[in-house]
Amino acid sequence: MTASGVEQADEHDGSVTASGVEQADEHDGSVTASGVEQADVAAAPVTAMHRAWWRRQVLTVGAGLRPLPWRATRDPWRVLVSEVMLQQTQASRVVGPWRSFVDRFPDPAACAAAPPSEVVRAWAGLGFNRRALQLRRAATAAVDHHGGQIPGDLDALLALPGVGAYTSRAVLAFAFERPVAVVDTNVRRVVRRALSGRPLAPSALQQLAGSLVPGACSWAYNQALMEIGALVCTSRHPACDRCPLARRCWWHQAGHRHPDPASPTTRQSRFVGSDRQGRGRLVAALRAGPVPASELAAAAGWPEDVERASRVAATLVADGLVVVDSHGTARLA
Ligand code: SF4
Repeated sequence: MTASGVEQADEHDGSVTASGVEQADEHDGSVTASGVEQADVAAAPVTAMHRAWWRRQVLTVGAGLRPLPWRATRDPWRVLVSEVMLQQTQASRVVGPWRSFVDRFPDPAACAAAPPSEVVRAWAGLGFNRRALQLRRAATAAVDHHGGQIPGDLDALLALPGVGAYTSRAVLAFAFERPVAVVDTNVRRVVRRALSGRPLAPSALQQLAGSLVPGACSWAYNQALMEIGALVCTSRHPACDRCPLARRCWWHQAGHRHPDPASPTTRQSRFVGSDRQGRGRLVAALRAGPVPASELAAAAGWPEDVERASRVAATLVADGLVVVDSHGTARLA
């Protein structure tokens, strides 16, 4: 959580576009002009030899993986919890809350049985509290439809509330060790810079990434590639001098020519002063106890703007995070 104790987005580990698609099918790994969004700069096709080299190089990172606690488990529920937490929060900030959460809710049944307010309280420190409720809904669906287990099937995972294209593949890869490509923000950046040399449509990028995943040791491969993106090929300061992919990295070999193939096409809107900030303040206040109507605006950080505070509170109610009683007092659902 930020110093101010409110919802805050940062460089996140697990975002993916809603249109992210299934991993490679019979694709041979070549990147053709038809598979990309733009045709101004052509990166070299990925040959079988290049693919083999790439896998070897990525796997060299294995011994240096950070000992993140969710890397020591293959329990699908614990992996799912970590992936939902990592979607919009840095790994270092997730470690403590993840441990507390899985201690408190060791399986889907425990989470499903808890009141929503308790799950939101256990989410403290992470922000984006809607994720907590989505996770509880996913736990409830696992209890209702899968005997209390998180399923190991893509379609069944996608049917869980709040589980999308990225999270479903992350669970398959990291809990069930299936050879699917896990394409988060960091992996997307590495693939764009090192292989495509340009932005790729989500489907093309997922397909390209999927064609690179080895059939064996896919768990280690996916973890290693994510680590390269998180620690080496960072957004602002790529450390090419210690990158195992440098020798055949398109962007590095091109002298970091402008534009950066990983340049975001959209930027997240400003957090400070946003409705999101007010939502975070309100939820932080509600964790401490009910907030009467007369204190709602101050709790949201806008004591002079009751209308805005009410509107933002209404979004929390609509999301199922907050309930308001007949006296106008708000409390966590
Ligand atoms: S060589 Fe540099 S730009 Fe290329 S993948 Fe490695 S860190 Fe990123």
